Amino acid sequence: MRKRHIAILGSTGSIGRQAMDVVRQHPDLFEVELITGNNNSGLLISQALEFNVNNVVICNEDKYDEVAAALQPHYIKVFAGMQSVCDLVCSDNIDMVLTAMVGFSGLRSTIAAIQAGKTVALANKETLVAAGELVMGLAEKHHAAIIPVDSEHSAIFQCLHCSPDAEIEKIHLTASGGPFRTWTREQIASATKEQALNHPKWHMGNKITIDSATMMNKGLEIIEARWLFGVGPERINVVIHPESIIHSMVEFADGAVIAQLGHPDMREPIQYALGYPSRLTLNNRKLDFAALGSISFQAPDQERFPALGLAMEALRKGGNMPCIMNAANEVAVAAFLQGKTSFYGITGIVERCMDGADFVENPDMDTIFATNDSTAARAREMAGII
Ligand code: MG
Repeated sequence: MRKRHIAILGSTGSIGRQAMDVVRQHPDLFEVELITGNNNSGLLISQALEFNVNNVVICNEDKYDEVAAALQPHYIKVFAGMQSVCDLVCSDNIDMVLTAMVGFSGLRSTIAAIQAGKTVALANKETLVAAGELVMGLAEKHHAAIIPVDSEHSAIFQCLHCSPDAEIEKIHLTASGGPFRTWTREQIASATKEQALNHPKWHMGNKITIDSATMMNKGLEIIEARWLFGVGPERINVVIHPESIIHSMVEFADGAVIAQLGHPDMREPIQYALGYPSRLTLNNRKLDFAALGSISFQAPDQERFPALGLAMEALRKGGNMPCIMNAANEVAVAAFLQGKTSFYGITGIVERCMDGADFVENPDMDTIFATNDSTAARAREMAGII
């Protein structure tokens, strides 16, 4: 494999830090050209020094002086703000862009990378939820490959390699079920932030961990799968698999089901995307089937986890409805983390935003941005966040 020059957008987050670990293991194969972060200036500075990157963007402009003072003596260029991310991501010396920012805020820079024809290792699922049809259309137009990093979608992507031309009969998206899998509706109703953040299988950032507890994460992933793999909602099936060993499966017309397995460790799909189509070594835990003994499956329960039904409804409705759902959810999760709403208040806010929304059947990108802003404002009002 020829050495790849990569940009890591959101390098200080959970995915970004694990991507840095992958790079650390293969310094001969990856060169980090650009890293970006929102607020964690200390980590951003230490990453820039360790990997001797060329360019650094701190999105929070208030922290620019601190980062610049630390890095400029080392001849590392420092920029501030989201527009700088969009500009720098297009640099000729970047081959591949890992989009690991949180939420809708990642959309502009992802679009910039696609328009510059970069290969995108996509870890920011909200961009495909909010604007999947438009983003995939842009990727086709600009010949930008999109390689999924989300573990389920990486699994599906890998499963498809054994029959690249066959039609997909069904995608089986596996879900751990999150921390409340065995809880009653009454118990879930009074769940605290600490309980919701205590995920049994995956260690991730706060936003996605709450999404996993509500199962909105799986809802977002249904929509992500729809756009990445071009399958209708009727061909996407969610199955609870508490051990999180099978990362997802593809069923073909002959009934054969191909699965991808491994311990839950995000470095695996991150490395697969960064090295694709090569398979590189990774110092992770390997599967021991005899020690594992058995794995199990259950149907999801939409009574206790209404987010799944809301996501299916948004996908079937189409237009800007998934964007409305995503915007409301981002605000509602923040409200829950701030103690401003209860656990079921999260999906309550999402449902009310979807019910009262200005539906647009064929939104353009401006409509998507406007929908996100107006929905977020409505959701903030509902949650009492000024
Ligand atoms: Mg996932």
